[in-house]
Amino acid sequence: MPLILPDWNPRAVLEPLRLPWLDAAGLELAVLRLDALDPLVSGNKWFKLAPWLARAGRDGAEGLISLGGAHSNHLHALAAAGARFGFPTVGLLRGEPQDTPTAQDLRRFGMALHWLGYGGYRARHQANFWEPWLQRYPGYQPVPEGGGGLTGAQGCAALVAMIREQLPALGWGDYHSLWTAVGTGTTLAGLVLGEAGAHPVIGALAVPVDHGVPAQVSGILAEAGCTDAGYRLVDASRGGFARLDAELARFLLDCERDGGVGLEPLYTAKALLAIRDEARAGRIPSGSRLVLLHTGGLQGRRALHDELLRLAGYTDQAVEAQG
Ligand SMILES: *Cc1c(COP(=O)(O)O)cnc(C)c1O
Repeated sequence: MPLILPDWNPRAVLEPLRLPWLDAAGLELAVLRLDALDPLVSGNKWFKLAPWLARAGRDGAEGLISLGGAHSNHLHALAAAGARFGFPTVGLLRGEPQDTPTAQDLRRFGMALHWLGYGGYRARHQANFWEPWLQRYPGYQPVPEGGGGLTGAQGCAALVAMIREQLPALGWGDYHSLWTAVGTGTTLAGLVLGEAGAHPVIGALAVPVDHGVPAQVSGILAEAGCTDAGYRLVDASRGGFARLDAELARFLLDCERDGGVGLEPLYTAKALLAIRDEARAGRIPSGSRLVLLHTGGLQGRRALHDELLRLAGYTDQAVEAQG
């Protein structure tokens, strides 16, 4: 039975985030809360997925099939959307079976899981990778890892209008720059397309600088017939993707306590810390108004909570008492 298209266009709220270090730097920050769209479906992964879902609906697909790791925000958003809107989903996972909180959610959402091992997962870039899976799941729409490419970026371009229409409610006439965490650069490319040069877009790299992000962003922009102008990357990775350290852990827990917003350490806390470091280095003038995409990913934080407390040297009780 071909899947029914969800008629769902969630609006993320743009809200001010007040933190002591922002006040000290003379900065105002507004956060577009993609993390708080819906109890089930959230994050930038939903917006990257939405055009793929639309395509699957137009083509009369039977379901969607995609790939990711044992903590994948992408598979989580896909499985959640399947549960929310009642269409079947299949997840192909990297490595050996693991019982992570994410994998438990995927199963609970009704996603069929197949663990490919590491070698099997590496084969995902081969031309005939999908063939056996589409024989097993005929009529399914394959979605590339992370919902990438121009299709995914176009889903994120719409976020710029969402920001713009909420500026009056904030009392802001305008903003100086738009920030997002960057993994593949798909979200960033979408923002560059949406801004069309109106504001600089700054990408806080959650991956090392040699991970090919500029080439990926250029590829998407070229496919859209757009030039590279209007974005800049800063290194926010702190030594590598998913690399955690004591300063990051303390910063994350302090910002959660002081700002009343949930953060995770791979993307959103690193992006916020990059803003603080850029401000301290004098590269963001006092008086600036910044917008940051809260790209979500809080579901992945569960597996890292104890590690964050340990690194920060905080106890759960202390965090709760301060909160
Ligand atoms: C995937 C992800 C990103 C990075 O998005 P890209 O489009 O790959 O650059 C940022 N933040 C969170 C929480 C994510 O899950």
